[in-house]
Amino acid sequence: LPASGLVMGEVCVRVAVRVRPLLPKEVLHNHQVCVRVVPDSAQVMLGSDRTFSFDHVFGPTASQDQFYESCVKSLVASLVDGYNATVFAYGQTGSGKTYTLGGGHIASLPEEESGIIGQVAAELFVLLGERRAADVRAAADVRVSYVELYREELRDLLELHTAHRELHIREDDRGNIVVVGARETVITSAEELQSILEAGNALRHTGPTQMNERSSRSHAIVTVQLTQHNHDDGSVRSSKLHLVDLAGSERAARTGNTGLRLKESVHINTGLLALGNVIRALSDPHRRGNHVPYRDAKITRLLRDSLGGTAHTLMVACVSPSHHSVTETLSVLQFASRAR
Ligand code: ADP
Ligand code: MG
Repeated sequence: LPASGLVMGEVCVRVAVRVRPLLPKEVLHNHQVCVRVVPDSAQVMLGSDRTFSFDHVFGPTASQDQFYESCVKSLVASLVDGYNATVFAYGQTGSGKTYTLGGGHIASLPEEESGIIGQVAAELFVLLGERRAADVRAAADVRVSYVELYREELRDLLELHTAHRELHIREDDRGNIVVVGARETVITSAEELQSILEAGNALRHTGPTQMNERSSRSHAIVTVQLTQHNHDDGSVRSSKLHLVDLAGSERAARTGNTGLRLKESVHINTGLLALGNVIRALSDPHRRGNHVPYRDAKITRLLRDSLGGTAHTLMVACVSPSHHSVTETLSVLQFASRAR
């Protein structure tokens, strides 16, 4: 039998591309569309002659629901089954990463536009409710943490007063990665998660620069940690799902930057490159068993137990359709197709 994605222990990395619509102001300024989805395929075409293939492709008319249903829903089921998972959004600033994840100004969006974080939480509580309906003794708790990684430094977005305290990444004796010092808040509903993330986002605003400025230079990581207790044998099963809004890809390897900007670019570049190398090592069957360079950056150290092994990984490459972004879009599509 040929190796398939169902073989036990096989690494599961999927890559999706989402092309957002032109924004009203881009239409107003006559931006031309330079990225198209090839109909009935999982391919996108850049310009008129470059085609790229992925596991999933979403065009400008795809809804948040369609994206969630085809890419993310299964990860929530595997979370409840005890598997770790990571979803990360990669792309240029303004390409739709935060929109897709739903980590932005959640309350200001109409319900059908709310991104995947809210849907993940809603689904999770439905599944846990079903477990409980089938077995009244089934017990589970859901905790959330929200950290930001900026210039290789971790900051807790849920801890107002210690926001500037340093957090540390540690591996416990069972191979679980823990962020020591990060606040974990217990949630009992999807609504609670939304309000916690709103608070975290508000804290993000108080940084030295504006939200958009800052969010283009830092990685934001929401972690949903699930602990399930088995009353028959007293065992405990833990699993977690990370939702990662990466720094803008245009910050990587940007030449001409000096001083602080240069330092930022170097850190962002290190993080995004390391992530690309880890994903590539995981998804290349010829390199299986080879060294996976997790230690090269904090982002990959942090995600280590949720990338590879039995974990499920979804990379969403977000792109703008505008011809003004063609150079950056090409490099994002290349990065994403190398990850497959
Ligand atoms: P990023 O987080 O990558 O910087 P954003 O998520 O903030 O980008 O998106 C930039 C703008 O594009 C926002 O105004 C957002 O509402 C809009 N946008 C992004 N993706 C979509 C989409 N699929 N449909 C409609 N609007 C979108
Ligand atoms: Mg953003």
